[in-house]
Amino acid sequence: MIVVMRVGATEKEIAGVVQRIEDTGLKAHLSQGAERTIIGVVGQIFPELQDMLEILPGVEDVIRVSKPYKLASREFHPIDTIINVGGVSIGGKEVVVMAGPCAIESEEQVIETARAVKSAGATILRGGAYKPSTSPYSFRGLGRVGLELLAKAREATGLPIVTEVMAPEDVELVAEYADILQIGARNMQNFNLLVEVGKTTKPVMLKRGLSATIQEWLLAAEYILAQGNNQLMLCERGIRTFETYTRNTFDVSSIPIIEKVSHLPIIADPSHGTGKWYLVTPMALAAVAAGADGIMVEVHPNPDSALKDGAQSLTFDNFRRLMAQLQPIAEAVGRRLAAPQEKCLR
Ligand code: PEP
Ligand code: MN
Repeated sequence: MIVVMRVGATEKEIAGVVQRIEDTGLKAHLSQGAERTIIGVVGQIFPELQDMLEILPGVEDVIRVSKPYKLASREFHPIDTIINVGGVSIGGKEVVVMAGPCAIESEEQVIETARAVKSAGATILRGGAYKPSTSPYSFRGLGRVGLELLAKAREATGLPIVTEVMAPEDVELVAEYADILQIGARNMQNFNLLVEVGKTTKPVMLKRGLSATIQEWLLAAEYILAQGNNQLMLCERGIRTFETYTRNTFDVSSIPIIEKVSHLPIIADPSHGTGKWYLVTPMALAAVAAGADGIMVEVHPNPDSALKDGAQSLTFDNFRRLMAQLQPIAEAVGRRLAAPQEKCLR
């Protein structure tokens, strides 16, 4: 349920409504726009609540939210969420580019890649230290050592880092190093993990599950928001369909859908979305044209010898070409690419 306050409602009137909501054991979430304040109500809504709130001073309207996800919905929170990641804004006018290897393999590999992607214009470094892996025999990441190497790469380049956390018990450790905690596709419905990252104040990027509907994805987002962490962005990374030519079917349409139904920033990952390096650039361009707030792309110094996801990784040259093509697309849709910072503000 949302309470729409009148334009010019006073602080006292707003506080009165919040108090009334909390007195009934429900939670109130304030969304203060330039014009008016909207108060979201979550919890077990009872039938008399609407009448109770409608009569309070300063209230213009009380509306039931029809969607099963509340905190993630635009009805509830009409204003775009903008997340600050070490000084980089995600969800505003600028399009951010996250780039780096699938997995951290060595100090040389991650630092060389971080320098190359930064000089091409990337704003955030990606890289996995804890790798989800379909086969138990493939590379599963360097773990804590990988996190330390990522921190060195941040130190060397000033790029904030996004890295995956796979288990609730690792959240504390990964949060010490990461600037964005990534929840991978395979863990989109690992509810204990969602609750754990929801308890932190770190920005989180929630990837769409392998075969998750948009509604299931937003309900997973709701788990994180309900814990109080509103520094949340979503990431479209392709879904499983009958098509086998590509690794996944990259659902470009989910980008404008998320923008319509949710206030959360939406990032696109055309690397996992396609599985083939030569499809990454066209799908990255399509994603930004469709309104993505950022892209996440795998880049490797030598994709042929990558320990993971070499087939979908761009070389440094291909990444530079992608960046050159991305700028005019961003401008065509009224955006621009964010410039890399000298230092990550932590
Ligand atoms: C990744 O980003 O490295 C990754 C494993 O992606 P996903 O969870 O989308 O498969
Ligand atoms: Mn990968």
